This record gives sequence, C-alpha cells and structure tokens, in this order.
Amino acid sequence: MAAALAVNHLWKSFGSGLRPAVRDVSFAAAPGEIIVLLGPSGCGKTTTLRMVAGLEQPTDGTILIGTEAAYDSKQRINVAPQHRQIGMVFQSYAVWPHMSVAKNVAYPLARRGLGRAEIARKVEEALALVGLEDYLDRSVSSLSGGQMQRVALARALVYEPRIILLDEPLSNLDAKLRLRLRDDLRTIIKKLGLTALYVTHDQEEAVVIGDRIGVMKDGELLQMSAAADLYNRPADAFVAHFTGVTNMLQGRVRSRSGGTASIELSGGAGPILATLGKDVADGEAVSVGIRPENIRLLDTPPSSLEPDQHRARVVERRFHGGQSVYRVAVLGTELDVVELGTMPRFDQGHEVTLTLPADLCWSFPAEASTDRR
Ligand code: ATP
Repeated sequence: MAAALAVNHLWKSFGSGLRPAVRDVSFAAAPGEIIVLLGPSGCGKTTTLRMVAGLEQPTDGTILIGTEAAYDSKQRINVAPQHRQIGMVFQSYAVWPHMSVAKNVAYPLARRGLGRAEIARKVEEALALVGLEDYLDRSVSSLSGGQMQRVALARALVYEPRIILLDEPLSNLDAKLRLRLRDDLRTIIKKLGLTALYVTHDQEEAVVIGDRIGVMKDGELLQMSAAADLYNRPADAFVAHFTGVTNMLQGRVRSRSGGTASIELSGGAGPILATLGKDVADGEAVSVGIRPENIRLLDTPPSSLEPDQHRARVVERRFHGGQSVYRVAVLGTELDVVELGTMPRFDQGHEVTLTLPADLCWSFPAEASTDRR
C-alpha cells in the first residue's frame, strides 16, 4: 500500500550562515500509522512538522501526502496549507475564547461552505469523539486546559483530514490531565484510522502514542523504529541515552560469531557478549548499552558460569515501592539493575551472579557516541 505521508531528503536552512535546522530527513508513514518525532529542544522536529503542514517552505526535498506531491523543490510544487487536507493541533490550544465550543469546531466547516444541518451533525460527532458532547454551547473560556485541547482536537478532526499533525499537544497540561489525554489521543486517532505525525520531547509520551518513533538531533533523523527496537537496538549512544538506557560499557570487539560479538571491556575485564549493532567492525572501540530492567541477578552461584554470567556484589539498594534498584559492582565497574516486586531480594554487600543477556546488550561504534553527545 502506498504511504499516507512520505518525506524525502527534506532540508531546511533559515540562513546561509546558520546550521541547517533540518538535514536530509526522510521517512514514510503507512496509512493509519502514528509517527512520533522525538528529540531535545531545537533538534528540528517542529520545523519538520511545519514543512509537512506547508507553514514553512523546505530548502530542498519532497513531501507527498497520499500520492500527491505537497512540496517538490525540483518541480516547483508547493501546495498551500489549506489545500493539503491536514488537521493540526498545537501546544497552545489555538481555540477562540470568545466563541462557544460548537462554533469553534464548526469554523473549518463553515469556511468550506457546508450546510447548517451537516455542520451540526459533524460537530456533534467530533465532540462526542473527544468526550465533549455535553459542552456544545459552553463558552470556551470556561473550559479547563485539557478540555480546550479536546476542542482543538475536535476542530482538527471535524473535516476528516487525510493526516493529522500534532505539535507538543499535551505540554501545557498538568501531569494528571496529560496522562489521561495522552491515552485518549491514541485511542481517538486509532479509532478514526488517521495517519498522524506527532512531535514531542517527552520519551514516555512518544512510546505511549507512537507506532514508530523517530529520534532527531541537530536536524538529523538518527533512527526511526518501533519503540521496542529503539529501546533494545539503539543506533547510537545518543538514542540510547535519550530512551533512558543508563548502563553504558566501553570496550573493544575481540571476536564475533554470527550477530554476537565478544567484547573486552576498557579496563581489561570481560569479555561480555553483545549483539552487534550496525557498522561495528572487528577490533573497533564500541559502547555497549544495557537497560537496568534487562539485567538478571541470581542468588545461588552456579557451579560454573555461563559466558553471559559474571560474579557481582550489591553495593547499594534503593527500594521504590514497586521495584528495587540495585547498584552492583561487576566487571570492574558499577551497573544499575532494576527488579520489579514489592520484596527486595538482596541487601548491600550480597554476592550475586549477574546475567547480561547477549540479545539485550547492544553495541554501537564508540566514535558515534562521542560525536553525538
Ligand atoms: P522545540 O521543542 O524547542 O520547539 P524543535 O526540535 O521543534 O524544538 P525547531 O523549532 O524545529 O526545533 O528548531 C530547529 C532549529 O531551527 C533551532 O535551532 C531553531 O532556533 C531554528 N529555527 C526555527 N525556526 C526558525 C526561524 N523562523 N528562523 C530562524 N531559525 C529558526
């Protein structure tokens, strides 16, 4: 099936002396897919979204919405925003406070010249979808932030756009509302089968909302994958850190067998086994990321250690209610290990056997990590 949205080799420069805000970004969204652009402030995610919307003109590249070119630098195609059939929701609610809820949502339909009865029906449908069917005649200024954002969403959905673009739509809400609307947003978008491009700097939000997540830094799209791949197979150390990997080991590839490398750690300890990332060569310096939840601790020492097992000692234990966080001395360094459960298993000083599962230890070139950080 053709992509619902395809962005190819997109560039944006705001001035000749400046670093390009967006550098050679390409991705495609399948129909009904929610793509999230994730990254720190200033990485170019909003600029990318605004180019898709037609609010910013690319310096180079193409944008296809469905099978139609919305922008093509070579063919001089630049479809106006109002003709791209997109719905948009921004961080600032962008609703009109002096109008009623119904009037706000009806606005895009009235502009398109639909009849009154049809407008009324569509407005009611859109408001029911966002859970505001009882608020039709309320003035928008009397609503909470979360309700205003629902009005903005209803207005973006009411004329059945081909794709919906959302730029940090939850940022202005308090924590509790943010969590509720976060779940609702995904449910609503999925119910309508809409293709969505969603911008956020919040890693957890990205994981909950997105089918695939693209991590951006300095205008580049570093990796676009399903959340689980991003977590377990980060392309480089920046992606690993941004998705919250806290354990990072440094070493060198000693040998490889299939997709697994034997890695000697920088201090001479090891070897450990890790899955080979893209572009990792023999003898090369690598970083190895392993998430605290993926390390296993064994109480009773086995008679002989497996290649992925190492002797370790608990140096610190913090109990967080539903989980225990251990700081463990192993392989000449210290690692964090998280175990779920309301009963901590080990005290400080406890000798344990630690497993670093090779399929969950992910290696990438060390140069890339220093470059990106
Ligand atoms: P944030 O989350 O802070 O909005 P972002 O990842 O969305 O960040 P962009 O807003 O896309 O980042 O900005 C990318 C870069 O482009 C930044 O360095 C920014 O200063 C620059 N930039 C954005 N808009 C303009 C503009 N109109 N003129 C000049 N520079 C701009």
